[in-house]
Amino acid sequence: MNTLISAQGNEQQSALATQQNSTDQLKKIRSALRALRDAVVLLNDNDGLEWWNQAAEDLLLLQVSDKGQCIFDFISAPEFRQYYQATTIADEGVHIESWHAPKRYLKCELTPFGDEKLLIIYDVTRLHHLEEMRRDFVANVSHELRTPLTVMMGYLENFSDQPDMPPHWKRGFELMTQQTARMNRIVNDLLLLSRIEIEETHELHYIDMTKLLTHVYDDAQAYNAGYGHSIHLQIDTYDGLYGSEMYLTSALSNLVINAIKYTPKGGNITISWANTAEGCRFAVEDDGIGIAPQHIARLTERFYRIDKGRSRATGGTGLGLAIVKHVLYQHQANLQIESVEGRGSTFSAVFPATHVRSAHTP
Ligand code: ADP
Repeated sequence: MNTLISAQGNEQQSALATQQNSTDQLKKIRSALRALRDAVVLLNDNDGLEWWNQAAEDLLLLQVSDKGQCIFDFISAPEFRQYYQATTIADEGVHIESWHAPKRYLKCELTPFGDEKLLIIYDVTRLHHLEEMRRDFVANVSHELRTPLTVMMGYLENFSDQPDMPPHWKRGFELMTQQTARMNRIVNDLLLLSRIEIEETHELHYIDMTKLLTHVYDDAQAYNAGYGHSIHLQIDTYDGLYGSEMYLTSALSNLVINAIKYTPKGGNITISWANTAEGCRFAVEDDGIGIAPQHIARLTERFYRIDKGRSRATGGTGLGLAIVKHVLYQHQANLQIESVEGRGSTFSAVFPATHVRSAHTP
């Protein structure tokens, strides 16, 4: 009997000790979260505030009585609401400008668990300024290089036209002309990239995609003269887009010109525009040299080229896909690349319904 009582006592004691242990652990986790310099907010299944740390209290000006209040009462930026309410939460979070202190930038990251969500808000002001400085620097350098380059190109053209040019100078002038033209293309692409990056949002205009793609197709046919590919244009929908016609023409042309450049002579290229469940899909399919899997994720980095020699020989700047990525991003579309080395590639993008104008719209 006594042994039974003491066994029960031991069990109770060990249960109490486990409970105490868990409570201590919980306290430690809470104090660690409280001490964190980033704002942490725990949200319930009604998007109401459940718990928050000191940094969140300072940033969102929260008071104890705010418990249960909706998060949108404290963060009203439309980008945040869009990110929060999306069916799949973007991994990279969302950047917003602070509503209390102008020129202070925040990054919000949500992690759902069960019916609740954990919101972490980071201050990314320093990073934002560094990024701004990098962008301005590239834009300024490119702009400054434009005038000297134009002067050089003008003189080179004049000299090259002289009938009495000594033959041993001819080759040198040809090379100088080629290289200044290349530099000019790089500077122009860098300027275009800076402009697209700076104009994070642009005015949305209606774009007749049948017209735009016919134009892209005609330009491709002209470029195709030395390659002899069969180029097909397949338009399955008259749906248009809302966006920037100039930037989209440049981006989609870039993809088509790449298909021409990176396909051995006499290949097949199909440009298509079709309706899908997710929105309208643009695609360029080629049966060219293809891309090995390890390169695919890096292709949109500036100056990333698989074969530098080939890219230069075809007049490439290594900036084309970086421009494409940014233009598509402005139109809420992502570049998809599928490829098999030696067999060919498909570069595509799906434009979401928010940017599509249905052909049936009156
Ligand atoms: P580039 O000016 O060098 O063409 P891009 O940014 O347009 O620069 O493309 C980056 C690299 O991606 C190219 O150098 C090439 O190696 C590869 N690439 C692009 N399009 C294709 C394609 N359709 N087929 C095979 N490789 C491609």
